[in-house]
Amino acid sequence: MRSLYLKKGKEKQPLNKHSYIFSGAIEKHDPEISAGEVIKIYSSENKFIAYGHFNPNSEIRARLLEWNENSIVDQEWYRNKIISALKLRERLFSSSETDGFRLVYSEGDLLPGLIVDKFNEVLVLQSFTSGMDTVKLTITNILIEELPEIKCIYEKSDGDGRRMEGLSNCTGVLYGKLPDDIVIHENGIKYKVDLVSQKSGFYTDQRENRQKIIPYIKPGAEVLDLFSYSGGFALNCSKHLSCNVILCDSSKDAIELAGTNYRLNNLLTDDITFVTKDCFTFIRELYSDSRSFDVIILDPPKLMPKKKDEYRAVRAYKDLNFNAMKLVKTGGFLITFSCSGNFSMEEFKKMIAYSAKDAKRTVQIVEQLHQGIDHPVSVSVPESEYLKGLILRIL
Ligand code: SAH
Repeated sequence: MRSLYLKKGKEKQPLNKHSYIFSGAIEKHDPEISAGEVIKIYSSENKFIAYGHFNPNSEIRARLLEWNENSIVDQEWYRNKIISALKLRERLFSSSETDGFRLVYSEGDLLPGLIVDKFNEVLVLQSFTSGMDTVKLTITNILIEELPEIKCIYEKSDGDGRRMEGLSNCTGVLYGKLPDDIVIHENGIKYKVDLVSQKSGFYTDQRENRQKIIPYIKPGAEVLDLFSYSGGFALNCSKHLSCNVILCDSSKDAIELAGTNYRLNNLLTDDITFVTKDCFTFIRELYSDSRSFDVIILDPPKLMPKKKDEYRAVRAYKDLNFNAMKLVKTGGFLITFSCSGNFSMEEFKKMIAYSAKDAKRTVQIVEQLHQGIDHPVSVSVPESEYLKGLILRIL
């Protein structure tokens, strides 16, 4: 097996089980290691640290997999990791109320670069590293064996993550036949899952948060769901209470899907308004029209993909939160999120404090929210805790 040696003083992070080795930390490595190969990583003093996937085309030159030198990274190793991830989900999702969840969450499940979502009888596999690309078929076979109820495994390896790894997009059926329609249940609500649109088709990371907002909504409340996608938050409001809801998303497909989901659940009434528009523009228009809301949900896409975008990203978050606060009635609630792994909860709260000051509103934090329980956080990889949210009372 080929090897890589770290520069002196660069062993602390990998020994603490952080999974990334950046190019700048490397002293030397064997020649001609191919993309995706499993290699041994050593300290500058020739001490074994871990096995990892190598990628010569990425700033993250290696992703660490295994710290025990006696545990070889072979088919059984992948199987054990997948079974461990499965066991957690079996414990979490025993009821038929929820049959859509993340089965494997990358570093959080000790399989850096691999994501598998389960949408009823369909699995969606996403590989973000050349290492996971090379074992894709091994993983597909393990999933077929361990989950005999599965009818289809669909690959959706695309997006910015792959570009940064120097990998092209790869999508298509890996096993079985993709059904014409995929419908999942989450907390008793039905959702059509559209695999060709964004991410893996449905944002399971907001499952618990979609329920947590319900106590804050009174019958007849005016609710604004910004960046609604397929309507997860709005549907939970409409299912539990009769309220007026406006959903806004810039994607026409997302808004159409939200409409389909309202019909699927027999919840479509005149109280629901769908708006296809840029949310940054829409909140300004609402303010000019002197509109106000009892509850606003603000769930933008990842505005800080890289730490170097911090200045611009914080301004965008602040712009949204500042403008949203101005639209909340006194005593109402703003439920605000960031899904940028590089933006910590502390920094998020600081941005909220500045937004409150500039909007001239007094703001209380009532609850702090996190990503779903099917997205476990690696204590050694802080970035794996990417979704954070706050329920704010606006006075
Ligand atoms: N709240 C959703 C998930 C939101 S994901 C849920 O519970 O499922 C982020 C959404 O923001 C995506 O649907 C994307 O289409 C949308 N989006 C991205 N940029 C936007 C913009 N500038 N204005 C409005 N929507 C935008």
